[in-house]
Amino acid sequence: MAARRKIKKTIFEGRIYEEIDIPFYREEILPILPKQILDFHVHIWKVEHWKEVPWEKDRPGSKYMVLEGDNSVEELLADGKKIFPAVDYNAVCFGFPSPSTDVEMANKYVSEVCEGHKNLFPLMLIGRNTTPPEEIMSMLQKKGFLGYKVLTPWYGDDYGTITVKDMIGPIEMEIANKFKLIVLLHVPGAGRLADPKVQEDIEEYATQFPNANLVLAHCGRCYMPEQIIRAINFLKKLNNVYLDTAMVMEPQVLQIIFENIGYKRVIFGTDLPIARMRGRRVYVMNHWVDIVVGEYPESAYRVPAKNISATFMAWEIILAIKRAAYAVGLSPQQLYEIFYENGMRLLECARAGRQREKTSEDEKI
Ligand SMILES: [Zn+2]
Repeated sequence: MAARRKIKKTIFEGRIYEEIDIPFYREEILPILPKQILDFHVHIWKVEHWKEVPWEKDRPGSKYMVLEGDNSVEELLADGKKIFPAVDYNAVCFGFPSPSTDVEMANKYVSEVCEGHKNLFPLMLIGRNTTPPEEIMSMLQKKGFLGYKVLTPWYGDDYGTITVKDMIGPIEMEIANKFKLIVLLHVPGAGRLADPKVQEDIEEYATQFPNANLVLAHCGRCYMPEQIIRAINFLKKLNNVYLDTAMVMEPQVLQIIFENIGYKRVIFGTDLPIARMRGRRVYVMNHWVDIVVGEYPESAYRVPAKNISATFMAWEIILAIKRAAYAVGLSPQQLYEIFYENGMRLLECARAGRQREKTSEDEKI
């Protein structure tokens, strides 16, 4: 029975894809995409990398974002083809940054699969004092990593009073500074990037470690205009702090960013596999809500809808960029930079930084 249901579901999915998604993609999405894109925020993992399933136990925060199974590299590559047909899809990949993850296994997997695919670029999962400096150095030199995806040492939104400095320390930042690495950070706290303490810590790290490139995931978790309005001023002077667009679907948020700090520090990212859900992230009162169409597990801020059409959230992110770009008048060349060049520049910077360090002998951290 289950098998038959699955076949039926697959045929149904196939029809929606051909009849609804693809015409929409050709009309609204493809015309603004460059020939090659870089998705700066992608998780790949296997369930074997988990010490336990993150949302199975009833602990605070664990049902914040419930996903199914794993997202292997094969699934990512299939998604790349399916969601971005007719463009060359590149991605920055890392494991699932939960306390349930066996970090060593996750990093090993990411480095191995990225080595076999020249369109995939690996970041290592790392946290404050989780990995000795010698091991970080060896992973950078031997495993191809170009920076860190900082671990989130909490479940869902149960971040309590965790600070940026609890997540990543001066030892890891010093190495990032020396090798010009990418530090992809999901900021903690209920106040998000609007929280003065979060801003203070980021400002301190960005100025103390000017060669490290800090990328704040989800535009610093600002899914609503009010959040980015309170955060934008502090970003103005920090030229080594970037914002990725993962799961940001509100055009006004991006418009405020473009108007205040320009487009050079905005980097396209999706948060696949989450962004392959059909639906859109909206906000209701003072929190984001995912309106979804299709069969997905129950999750804290996920609201299933039956009577509307919806397509991939990854495309809704692109639509938000498109609407904001229209509002401020960005050119196709400027969009190309957001979708590809801005992120690629950081990868090249890390690659060059790592290379230079490799050739200068004797130098030690
Ligand atoms: Zn993510």
